[in-house]
Amino acid sequence: MKENIIIYNSLSRKKEVLKPIVENYIGMYVCGPTVYGDPHLGHARPAITFDVVFRYLKWCGFKVRYVRNITDAGHLENDADEGEDKIAKKARIEELEPMEVAQYYTQSYHHAMNLLNCLPPSIEPRATGHIIEQIEMVQKIIKNGLAYEKNGSVYLDVNKYNKQFSYGTLSGRNLKDTLSGTRELDSQSEKKSPVDFAIWKKASKEHIMQWPSPWGNGFPGWHMECSAMSEKYLGKTFDIHGGGMDLVFPHHEAEITQSNACNNCNPVNYWMHNNMITIDGKKMGKSLGNFINLEEFFTGKHEKIDKAYSPMTIRFFMLQAHYRSTLDFGNKALQAAEKGLNKLLEAKNTLKQLLPTKTSTFNVNDLEKKCFEAINDDFNTPILLANLFEGVKIINSIKDRKAELNAEDLNNLKNLFDVFIDKILGLKEQEVVQSNDISDDIMEVIFSIRNNAKKNKDFKTADFIRDELKKKGIQIKDSRDSSSWSQEK
Ligand code: ZN
Repeated sequence: MKENIIIYNSLSRKKEVLKPIVENYIGMYVCGPTVYGDPHLGHARPAITFDVVFRYLKWCGFKVRYVRNITDAGHLENDADEGEDKIAKKARIEELEPMEVAQYYTQSYHHAMNLLNCLPPSIEPRATGHIIEQIEMVQKIIKNGLAYEKNGSVYLDVNKYNKQFSYGTLSGRNLKDTLSGTRELDSQSEKKSPVDFAIWKKASKEHIMQWPSPWGNGFPGWHMECSAMSEKYLGKTFDIHGGGMDLVFPHHEAEITQSNACNNCNPVNYWMHNNMITIDGKKMGKSLGNFINLEEFFTGKHEKIDKAYSPMTIRFFMLQAHYRSTLDFGNKALQAAEKGLNKLLEAKNTLKQLLPTKTSTFNVNDLEKKCFEAINDDFNTPILLANLFEGVKIINSIKDRKAELNAEDLNNLKNLFDVFIDKILGLKEQEVVQSNDISDDIMEVIFSIRNNAKKNKDFKTADFIRDELKKKGIQIKDSRDSSSWSQEK
C-alpha cells in the first residue's frame, strides 16, 4: 500500500507519489495554534486532516515523527511585522501573565482535540522554549549575507535572497506581486524594501515577552519558530509540512525563505494545505457574529446552532469533504452528517453479529481495493466514505437475508471496517460531552418526574430526587406552583 500514496504537493502544484527521504520513516511538521483564544473550527480542520494523514502513514508501517507547534510568543496582530503580540494583548486585557493565557488555551486546545479523537503529535514544541535556536538561525542568515540589522531588529533581505534563490515558489507570488501588495515604506521604516520581513524584533519597554540577544532585548519574528523547530526535530530537509491554506502567505513562504537563507537547501519535500471553512456560506469571523467555538458546537449553546453536535459528528462532517475543498457548516448539513455517522457505526455493530453462509454474493476484495485507492489518492476521505457506505448497504442486505457472505469474506469486511473507520478515520461511538453546566432540558425532565410524583402524593420519590440532586450540588427550591433550581459552582 505504502508504495502508492499520492499527495498533492502545493509546491509543485501537482500530485506526486510519496517518496520518503529515509526508508520507512516520515517527518511531518504541522503549524499548530497561537494560543490566545478558544479553539474553533479553524483549529479543528487542520488537526483532523493531518490526524488522518498521521494515522494512515502509521498504519502503513511508517515510523512517523509528527511535530505540531504551539505558538506562545512572536505572533503579532494581523500577522504583521508591527503591532501587539496576540498573547500579550489578551494578557493585558484579562490582567493575566502571558504564560497564564498560553497555558489556559493550550489546555483547552488539547481538550477539544482529544474530544475530536485527534492523536497527540510526537513532539509539541513551544516558540518560547526555542528562543536560542531561533537566535542561532538569525545569526546564520546574517552571516550568509541575507539579513541585516537595523536599530535592534533584524530583517530578511528579500531582494538579495531572490538573486540567489527564487522567492515566492510556494505562493506563486513573485517579488513584483508582493511589492504591489505591500504598503509604501514610510520615512521611519527600518526596512530596505517593503518586501523584507522581520526575523528578530527589538522589543519596546512595554513589550512583556522579550529575551536578550546579540541585537539587544527583543523577540523572534513569528515565522522564525517553525523554521527553527522543524529543523531541530526533523532536520534541514524533511518530508511533509502541513497547515491551513491561509498560512501559505506570508507564513510558509517565509519559512521556505528563512530555511534556504540559513541552510542553502529547501526545507520541505511535500507541502500540504487544507482549505478553509465557511459558516452558512460566509467567512467565519468575530466581527461577522458567526464565530462559533468548538465548545459551543459540542454543547449547542450558540444562537446559530439548533442543537448540540457531538465531536464525532464534527469529525465525520469534515471527513465528508476532501481536505483541499472548502467546507460550509450549517445546521442542516450537520444533522445529515449526524445521521450518516450513526448509520455507519450501527452497521459496524450489526456486522459483528452477522453469521457466515457458504457462498458470497458480494466481492469484498473489490471494495477493499476501492477503499485503498481512495485513501491513497491524496487522502480522499469523501470517496473512501462513499465506499464504506457501499459496505453498509451490503451489511443491511445480509441482515435482511437479501445477500450473503462466506466466512472469509465476512471476516475481511469486519477487518476492513475496523481498519478504516476506527484506525484510519478515527471515528468511534459518540460520546456525550461532559459540561459543568447542567442542561435546562435535562432538568425539565427531572422536574416533570418529580412534579408527577408530588401530584400522586408519592413524596418519597419527590424527596429522593431533591436529596440526590442536593448531593450533586444542585438545590431545588419549591414554591407553591413551580420549582426552580440552582447549581453550586
Ligand atoms: Zn508555522
